[in-house]
Amino acid sequence: GQPLLFDMSFEKDMTLRERKNCIQQMVKVIGLNRRALRPFHLHLCGMVDGGLVEKDFIRELGERAFHQGLFTSTTKPFYEIAPTNELVYLTPDSRCKLLEFDPKAFYVVGGIVDKLMQPGLSLAKAKRAGIKTACLPLDYYLAWRLGSKNLTLDQMMSILISVAEDGDWPRALQHVPQRKIRNPTFAPIGSRSEPQGQRNKRK
Ligand code: SAM
Repeated sequence: GQPLLFDMSFEKDMTLRERKNCIQQMVKVIGLNRRALRPFHLHLCGMVDGGLVEKDFIRELGERAFHQGLFTSTTKPFYEIAPTNELVYLTPDSRCKLLEFDPKAFYVVGGIVDKLMQPGLSLAKAKRAGIKTACLPLDYYLAWRLGSKNLTLDQMMSILISVAEDGDWPRALQHVPQRKIRNPTFAPIGSRSEPQGQRNKRK
């Protein structure tokens, strides 16, 4: 399967609760991926040997599952897994929209839960490593209603699994929680036709 990298090097940026939450989301990620038609090969990068994230992970998954080969866990940072120009860090703060999913790219997802929102954390890591960044094309396909555009790790996983299957963003973005969307028509905003009533009013 296509590699998918999770940058697990945010140990210091999370409180204990955030870290527990992050691990729970990662357990969901692994389950979602295992049930996918064509699973990704998951790389958990930047793990600290004997670190808090690893310990919590093993506690949550069990020693056996952790070493079962559902994913590769490595202390190597994401930028050592693939050549710089093939890596794309997915970050909500990127100015570049991922309009086309590339089945050859090595996408990186930040393994972080930040309840209090620390914008730019993953963007900074990507910049330091000198790799490309992209955000999901949320504004392009959806009329946003409320809430942050920082999706959870399991939401990210569902979206990536779906878009990797057929490149269909509107289908994939159905995994965005409905409460965040104003008008769930899933048509590009630019091409969406005006409702009949409004058009008449303007004449
Ligand atoms: N402030 C955090 C940061 O700097 O990344 C947000 C963390 S978000 C809860 C967890 C990860 O999911 C992000 O690091 C990113 O990889 C991915 N993610 C969440 N929403 C995204 C979006 N709208 N576009 C691209 N990636 C997103």
